[in-house]
Amino acid sequence: MPSPRCSRWCLSLLVASTLAAPLHEAARAASPFDPVLERVLKLLPKRPLEVAVIDPNQAQPDVRRTLLTLDAFITKGGRVVYLTSHSEVIQGALKGSQLCDYILATIVWHEMAHIDGANEAEAQRCEEQLWTAFLMEERVDRIQGLRYLKALKSRRGDEGHRRP
Ligand SMILES: [Zn+2]
Repeated sequence: MPSPRCSRWCLSLLVASTLAAPLHEAARAASPFDPVLERVLKLLPKRPLEVAVIDPNQAQPDVRRTLLTLDAFITKGGRVVYLTSHSEVIQGALKGSQLCDYILATIVWHEMAHIDGANEAEAQRCEEQLWTAFLMEERVDRIQGLRYLKALKSRRGDEGHRRP
């Protein structure tokens, strides 16, 4: 079961390193993830403007270390949701895990909330609301779904640092 991780703390780092453009170009080349994104975006109440998958190995070493701890992030003022290709969740989705598809959808939803100006607590709430909806509609396994919801809720006050 993947644990929820965010993202926000690396924004200034990425902006400062002016990596947004090269990351974007790298994302364009990544295609094995296209079917995953196609499935995942259909699960969202609203589609994001753009989602790109990036490979941390293509980033500079200092940025790579940060990227390796993230499932997803946005750049300050940007409208693109970046997903990292090594992420346990996207890798699970790539291997056909339906649960990971749904988790990935809530991760994208969280980042979309940030794009719309949400702070970390608000974005976490959006993520939890979507996950709860998936649970209520019985689209995810009840036991796994409740366990993941508990993990999501345990993040309160955590400003995005990776949890154990
Ligand atoms: Zn966040």
